[in-house]
Amino acid sequence: MKTKYLHDYHIHTEYSFDCHVSMNSYCKKAVELGLNEICFTDHIDLFYDRKPVGADAEKLVVNESGKMKLTYIDDCRQIINFDFNERQREIGLLMAQYPQLRIVSGVEIGLAPGMDLFFDRYIKDYHFDYILASQHLINGQDPYCGGFFNDRSKDEAYQEYLMEMYANLKKFDDFCCVGHIGYPARFCSEEDSRLHIKNHIDIIDETLKLLIEKGHGIEVNTVGYKNTGDWFPPYSIIQRFYQLTGEVITIGSDCHSLDRLGQYNEVALQMVEAAGFKYLTSFYNKKPQYVKI
Ligand SMILES: [Zn+2]
Ligand SMILES: [Zn+2]
Repeated sequence: MKTKYLHDYHIHTEYSFDCHVSMNSYCKKAVELGLNEICFTDHIDLFYDRKPVGADAEKLVVNESGKMKLTYIDDCRQIINFDFNERQREIGLLMAQYPQLRIVSGVEIGLAPGMDLFFDRYIKDYHFDYILASQHLINGQDPYCGGFFNDRSKDEAYQEYLMEMYANLKKFDDFCCVGHIGYPARFCSEEDSRLHIKNHIDIIDETLKLLIEKGHGIEVNTVGYKNTGDWFPPYSIIQRFYQLTGEVITIGSDCHSLDRLGQYNEVALQMVEAAGFKYLTSFYNKKPQYVKI
């Protein structure tokens, strides 16, 4: 029996390069599932071609009625974009169609060196209620594409990932939560692929304190729960965030298909409560609002 406030704050739609599900189908399913709120977080990953921001980056903006172009350079080097205004218009129509559901316009933006400058120039002026900042690239390499663990130990790999994420977060302010902390573990083939907090405690504490200082938060990403029984970030980091007085927290399925919408949301919510949190966070115009769990 559903008694709690349920949201899904990490949803990919046909506006993402790697998803074909319409926003309307998600809304319909969300109502069936009894979700109170959903947030669309389509991908913006600007530097998959590993070039720093500058003259080359400007060429990526293909402007016909303000539309940016989706460009496949090769499997791992994509410039991913969509027409922000067109998507916003569709969200407006869906809001009218589904008054019982709160629909939030978000994006998942890839953290990378220089993206703060690009964001200021090309993205800042568009309306988003929620910005999820996710570290997909580590030194220009996405673990999703394989090979990331080939030439370093697991702990070296996670340390490198955490250091780069911290450096990028220090320079970028225009976001609400950090996505799926611990992401590379999804692609680690070791028997124990987990990121152990004790092996990286200094950089994890620095990162969590930085988020708290800036008034930002973390998302609990449920994508690995089926296989590992843990979350991104792992429970130990969620607890640590709470101990350090972190308050801003969302739950997201990171779904790219309808069947994953809201999946493990209720169990994640119980875990968040067990970690000590009394509120989940909703966002309006990038400002947090706290909803009692
Ligand atoms: Zn992501
Ligand atoms: Zn995602």
